[in-house]
Amino acid sequence: MARRIPTEADAYIYMETLRWPDKPVCPHCGVIGDHYYLQPENGFSRITTRGTYSERRVWKCKDCRKQFSVTTGTIFHGSKVSLRIWLFVFFEMCANKNGLAAREISRKYGVAPKTAWFMTQRIREAMKSRGGLMSGNIVADETYIGGKPENWHANDPRRAKFGNTTARKTAVVALINSETDEIRTKAVTSVTGPNIRHFIEENILFDSSSLHTDSAGVYRTVGKEMTAHHVVNHNIGQYVTALSDGTNKAENFFSQLKRSISGTHHSLSPEHLHRYLAEFAFRHGSHGLTDTERMVKLMGQVPGIRLSYRPLTSN
Ligand SMILES: [Zn+2]
Repeated sequence: MARRIPTEADAYIYMETLRWPDKPVCPHCGVIGDHYYLQPENGFSRITTRGTYSERRVWKCKDCRKQFSVTTGTIFHGSKVSLRIWLFVFFEMCANKNGLAAREISRKYGVAPKTAWFMTQRIREAMKSRGGLMSGNIVADETYIGGKPENWHANDPRRAKFGNTTARKTAVVALINSETDEIRTKAVTSVTGPNIRHFIEENILFDSSSLHTDSAGVYRTVGKEMTAHHVVNHNIGQYVTALSDGTNKAENFFSQLKRSISGTHHSLSPEHLHRYLAEFAFRHGSHGLTDTERMVKLMGQVPGIRLSYRPLTSN
């Protein structure tokens, strides 16, 4: 990546090729067209309102006459971090199987720890699925994440809330499309039939999907609403049947997720868990792609996500 993108202007050109494979798209009016590239007077950089020089490539819309760049309206917009570093972090998060800790980014790219953390959260937000309802053979399973008090910091507020000995875990449900490997996840306060049904309804087309689960009772009711419900009974050592590959796909996903959390992130606060889940689901669900293909896919999911600093740090 560093060789492919030696300068900040190259970072803009690289992103333009990813996001505008045909012609530039004006983010203000949506017109795709022969917009004007505004060549800087000195050939490569222009002075910013902050008084610094920027190699940001600026375009002018031939329809609405407004100016824009390839980052306008995206998660990269208005950041003090160079687009070049953004793209390096973006690529690493797409490629690194176990995810990337903010402190590692901070050390490697020389950005403040808080900034690095915010970058990872923004990229994870982009990794959230934008797809519609899934259909086909759907594997559903649940697991429990975190909650080992011995790993909490001495001043962790959870100590006061839960005490030092009781484990508090967060339940996570995953739905995996067996054909495409696409994964949807959700952290739920408790694993109940209605909670599970609600999550499945938000993600799955009942009429054209069959459900594959273990024998947990929470799937029984919703299973009846789908074309078929295949159950493997782990209690009697049954993991596959003639009609179902069981829940292996979900178990693989969960074990990778847990290894990564304990190896890379150590502890995760429950309020941010949904973004980490999105990250792992995105990567795991696109394991058939090359790192570059995965980056292209994610770049396609980036548009228009605005996440301001305040709501992220307030909890
Ligand atoms: Zn326009």
